[in-house]
Amino acid sequence: MHKYSAKLCIIGAGASGIVAAISAKRRGTDVVLVDRMAGIGRKILACGAGRCNLFNERLDDSFYNEAARPLVRQVLARFGLGAIRDFFHDIGLAMHTEAGRVFPATDQSSSVLQVLSLQLKLLGIKVLTGFPVARVEGQIGGFTVRADNGGCVECEKVIIAAGGRSYPKLGSDGSGLRLAQSLGHSIIEPVPAAVPLITKDTLCQVLQGQRITAAVQAVIDGRAAGRCEGDLLFTRYGVSGTAVLDVSRQVSVALHRRSGSKAVLVADLVPFMSPAELKAEITRRRKLGFPSEALLAGILPEKFGRPYGQLAAGGTPDALVSGLKEKPFQISGTRGWDEAEFTSGGVSTGEIDPRTLESTIRPGVYFCGEVIDVDGVRGGYNLAWAWSSGAVAGLTQ
Ligand SMILES: Cc1cc2nc3c(=O)[nH]c(=O)nc-3n(C[C@H](O)[C@H](O)[C@H](O)COP(=O)(O)OP(=O)(O)OC[C@H]3O[C@@H](n4cnc5c(N)ncnc54)[C@H](O)[C@@H]3O)c2cc1C
Repeated sequence: MHKYSAKLCIIGAGASGIVAAISAKRRGTDVVLVDRMAGIGRKILACGAGRCNLFNERLDDSFYNEAARPLVRQVLARFGLGAIRDFFHDIGLAMHTEAGRVFPATDQSSSVLQVLSLQLKLLGIKVLTGFPVARVEGQIGGFTVRADNGGCVECEKVIIAAGGRSYPKLGSDGSGLRLAQSLGHSIIEPVPAAVPLITKDTLCQVLQGQRITAAVQAVIDGRAAGRCEGDLLFTRYGVSGTAVLDVSRQVSVALHRRSGSKAVLVADLVPFMSPAELKAEITRRRKLGFPSEALLAGILPEKFGRPYGQLAAGGTPDALVSGLKEKPFQISGTRGWDEAEFTSGGVSTGEIDPRTLESTIRPGVYFCGEVIDVDGVRGGYNLAWAWSSGAVAGLTQ
């Protein structure tokens, strides 16, 4: 059995755990960083489709779930936008910005992991991979962090940075939440967020593979929820694309946490024309003799001609306009953890000291990153939280 000891053990070498380790070690704390996977930072590599949207230049608590805002506000006050930028600059990462979203200058996630790994090495931080933590025993001053495979770390303090449940194949399989629960913490039910949605609407099958720019409005139990403009991708099972991912959180929360909730996505497939403009254009085209299947030629991709040609042939211009500007998709579920970019839910923020991220239930245990009930909108906000909370958890050791 391998036995290690250190002042601080950090469980999870993802975005938040790596930064926590660097920040603690820079203050002179002896750290062991452990991860269940064979390598560290697997999810960082997958971020931003391999480009890694590191953070956003507009960063404040309003971009996060409501319950988390008081916690996020205090953490960002301690380690906010400027500190995140300086941190990456100091460790050697060149960056560039696109519409407020900050990426590595190389546009490669591997550059981010490379500079972080180098820093762990330069600071002499002990990293144990293939170390799947199953239990945390003891109390402040004398914890034992035990792995499934017999390994253990004896330490004075523990940071749980084990992530949520999304993309379990990249490491975050929900075991961090179970560890927190076993230590007495309340867990807000985790649900997949930024996730494609399932609908039986036949339009999705007919148009599968087609991607357009659309405005998507989520309607939950008859009430308007989030609205986003962006990509709408039709798939074999339903809808995806940035506009859908951006509104999926509210839909997922409603479908998973409130039994009997009904969710509908109402898509405006022609957001660049008002209903009156679209109706006038349809009427003009009819007068010019455009055939039904080509009535929308030049407005929507050719494949839309078939389904909308039928509507055009049999219906009034008003019916066609509403079928294009207010196309409803009844949502029956989400594509689940394997396709969700992040987790909504986690360790209740009310049980964490916002100044230090220490548990108010188990002194000596700290949390950072996605394991906490904090989720941000897409656009760099989830990694921003991971860097910022990781730095604060490490700073306070
Ligand atoms: C495909 C994809 C793309 C994304 N793109 C972006 C983006 O561009 N910008 C953005 O802001 N956010 C993005 N996100 C979200 C972002 O990656 C996460 O919010 C962030 O990585 C969370 O960091 P974390 O350290 O809390 O958890 P994770 O990065 O999930 O790390 C947790 C670590 O803990 C380890 N672990 C878990 N359980 C145990 C255990 N029991 N014992 C030991 N180790 C354990 C895991 O192996 C893992 O390495 C994306 C997510 C995905 C899935």
